[in-house]
Amino acid sequence: MKQKIFRSTILVAIAVLCASFLIIMSCLYTYFEGIEKAQLRDELNLAAAGTQSSGLDYLNNLESSAYRLTWISQTGEVLFDSKADEETMENHGSRREIRDAFQKGEGSDSRYSSTIMEKTHYFARKLEDGTVLRISVSRASAGLLLIGMVQPVGIVLILAAILSVILSGQAAKRITKPLNELNLDSPLDNDAYEELTPLLQRIHSQHQKIDTYLRELDRRKREFDQVTGNMKEGLVLLSSKGTVLSINPAAQAVFGTDQNSEGKDFLTVERSVEVSQALEKCGQEGHSEIRRQRPEGEFQFDFSRIDCEGKTVGTVLLVFDVTQRAQLERTRREFTANVSHELKTPLQLIMGSAELIEAGMVSQEELPGFVGKIRSESARLVTLIDDIIHLSQMDDETGIPMEPVDLLDIANQAVEAVRDSADAKNVEIRLTGEPAVIEGNSGLLFELAYNLCDNAVKYNREGGKVFVSVSRSGDSAVIQVKDTGIGIPGEHLPRIFERFYRVDKSHSKQSGGTGLGLSIVKHAAACHQGKVDIKSRPQQGTEITVTFPAGS
Ligand code: ADP
Repeated sequence: MKQKIFRSTILVAIAVLCASFLIIMSCLYTYFEGIEKAQLRDELNLAAAGTQSSGLDYLNNLESSAYRLTWISQTGEVLFDSKADEETMENHGSRREIRDAFQKGEGSDSRYSSTIMEKTHYFARKLEDGTVLRISVSRASAGLLLIGMVQPVGIVLILAAILSVILSGQAAKRITKPLNELNLDSPLDNDAYEELTPLLQRIHSQHQKIDTYLRELDRRKREFDQVTGNMKEGLVLLSSKGTVLSINPAAQAVFGTDQNSEGKDFLTVERSVEVSQALEKCGQEGHSEIRRQRPEGEFQFDFSRIDCEGKTVGTVLLVFDVTQRAQLERTRREFTANVSHELKTPLQLIMGSAELIEAGMVSQEELPGFVGKIRSESARLVTLIDDIIHLSQMDDETGIPMEPVDLLDIANQAVEAVRDSADAKNVEIRLTGEPAVIEGNSGLLFELAYNLCDNAVKYNREGGKVFVSVSRSGDSAVIQVKDTGIGIPGEHLPRIFERFYRVDKSHSKQSGGTGLGLSIVKHAAACHQGKVDIKSRPQQGTEITVTFPAGS
């Protein structure tokens, strides 16, 4: 801007200077030409008077180098010329000023010489004897005068230009200084140029609008951050070019990054090929999802393209922790496969036996054995189905009715329920303890106690012992079942609470086990916020303790 003002000022100064110079020159030229013509007329009058009274004598004695006097006869011949030889001069009768003088008494003319550099003014006057006296003077023309002025004018122009440069520079500085010092943060506080007031007022109102927008934007961002910050799911907003616009804390934890990843390309935050392919697929199809196993667990990435007026403006990525869901799905799949297998085996035995009997291939002696197998396998099926029903009831924890239940009572019922099988195996079973009432479900607690006692008898040796005790420890209630049976090898202990897990499959099956007993124990304890501890040594025995916390 300073440069522009500077250049404009110089140009204006030079243009004004040149124009003024030309105007002044032409005025002066016209003025002096007028004066000269008047003087010339006076001189002619004087010379005319002299010539009329003394004729050639007067003209010959006249000494004037400034003017040229020419005396012309009535026929136009030159009688006298102060600057040339009249003998050699042509007839002047046709010259305009002479012609006018013959006709009107006076005549004048101005003629340029062969070049336009010189101009001659002529004045002629008719004398009383009919002759004409002409006076003339030659002067440089205005063009020549201008050429002659080139040097001084040039010097003046250069000086004027230098002066203009200095003054323009200062003027430009002076003009732009207040503009440079404008405080645009508070436009109305400025006191620069009056002409700037409307502009400053507009800037002020724009400021106010921008401030309002910014405050609103800030409020919305805080709201957005608050919402996304508390989300369990990871949320990443990507621009149409794949740059991270926003990433919430949950997503930062999954990708092992921080807020600084905002503004970076998403593929530098997550480098896996599968994820970049899913992002690409989302760009083409509008949506894509992918599951990835990471050290922190299993995650599902859902990409959704955001379109606005037919143009892709970005992508939303939602990250879900599906570790638990995946584990549940796996367990369910395994469970279904196990249940099918466990149901199929006894059913095949039952069907096979029935088919043999039907085909008459079983002798009368063998018949009781086959019928007994059908009965025992059917009994196993019933137990298995009962156990599955119990487990599925416990899976759906909601709606389990709770009431005050005495654990000693429950333990007594369980002991009585297994007494026959204990007697059959010559296993002594003893119950000791004190009443311990907890808030619980008597059905589930019976299943828990029954399975513990049943296992203690099942996996005991001939003549072994089972000790069942119920006690209170502080506010907690404890039921413990201890046996002197075959025990469990250490490597199996971490898995024996899994559904259908059995240490010795054949032994378990032989003794009517389903592989679900300890799962039921674990679930029943969990339904009462109880904790199960197990201690076992092969060939020495097993001790399982369930502790129910205060308040349960
Ligand atoms: P099952 O119906 O086969 O008994 P459980 O879930 O009750 O299934 O027990 C799982 C496995 O743990 C059993 O197959 C058995 O090998 C072992 N087990 C459970 N309780 C005892 C115990 N008191 N003594 C020895 N082994 C046991």
